[in-house]
Amino acid sequence: MAGEAQDDCLFCRIVAGAVPATIVRETETTIAFRDINPQAPTHVLVIPKAHYRDAAALAAGAPELAADVLRETQAVAELDKLESYRTVFNTGTGAGQTVWHAHAHVLGGRGLHWPPG
Ligand code: IMP
Repeated sequence: MAGEAQDDCLFCRIVAGAVPATIVRETETTIAFRDINPQAPTHVLVIPKAHYRDAAALAAGAPELAADVLRETQAVAELDKLESYRTVFNTGTGAGQTVWHAHAHVLGGRGLHWPPG
């Protein structure tokens, strides 16, 4: 069910502390941790603690929680003193989503090209 922790979800396991992660921020409803395969000097993932399979399910099922995630992306940018940064939600396989727990990528610390690949 939407929102409930899934035993087979990597990011639910990070939330539970069962998989180690470099956590940079935590709130009552979210955590932010460094991506294991960084694509920029700052590459942090912000996730809701509750399980939603992607950003679309999160926005539809828990809009206030989606707002919490967005607020935290800005907090991460402040933490890493980023003047410019990019927030990305890959939604669906064709867009490159590989982990089925909603997450925002926060990328910064280098020039970022547009359009992305
Ligand atoms: P997606 O491709 O948008 O679903 O992003 C998933 C991200 O999770 C990728 O950038 C991966 O590098 C990252 N990732 C996968 N496993 C871990 C982990 O154990 N810790 C931190 N980041 C991870």
